[in-house]
Amino acid sequence: MLDCELDYDEILRVFRERDRSKFLYTIEFFPEEGKYHFDGHRACQLRLSPQETRAAGGRCPSCGRPITVGVMSRVEALADRPTGEATGRVPFRNLIPLEEIIAEALGAQPGTGAVREEYFRLVHELGSEFAVLLDAPPADVARYAHPRVVDGLRRVREGRVVIHPGYDGVFGEIHIFQGADDQPRVEEPAQTSLF
Ligand SMILES: [Zn+2]
Repeated sequence: MLDCELDYDEILRVFRERDRSKFLYTIEFFPEEGKYHFDGHRACQLRLSPQETRAAGGRCPSCGRPITVGVMSRVEALADRPTGEATGRVPFRNLIPLEEIIAEALGAQPGTGAVREEYFRLVHELGSEFAVLLDAPPADVARYAHPRVVDGLRRVREGRVVIHPGYDGVFGEIHIFQGADDQPRVEEPAQTSLF
């Protein structure tokens, strides 16, 4: 995300110099969604962190065959400083596509009618998908969005998501809601008592 004049030379300068006053952040999906982010053994449905792989001596604790090593193990092997140490790099923000947030909030599948309707209403009213995801004040979002979608957007903005990293060919999953209180509420007509 740039905050500079839309001028070729200026944009080039901001990138080259990594001018943090103008180069605010990058926008990325969650790398954990990749199929080989963590280590593991698909046949045993076992996901392991790099530390766990080392502790297990590189063998699947369940069947003893070699663990398939993923990206994070390689990153740690190449790293020359601890995780989280300041580097002066441009910050990043992880996003989940709006349609997926709406779908999980409403307990529906992406592409279905209710999800598409909510998506197009929000994008139309607030200007763009990035505006909805990143910038629109929550009060503005709340004027147009289902309350659970507002809650979901807030969780994504605050990074309060549940991450199950991919491993050994299995896609990772990012969930916004979890736990008994977080189950999508299915709006059904009140049950009529039989008694
Ligand atoms: Zn195994």
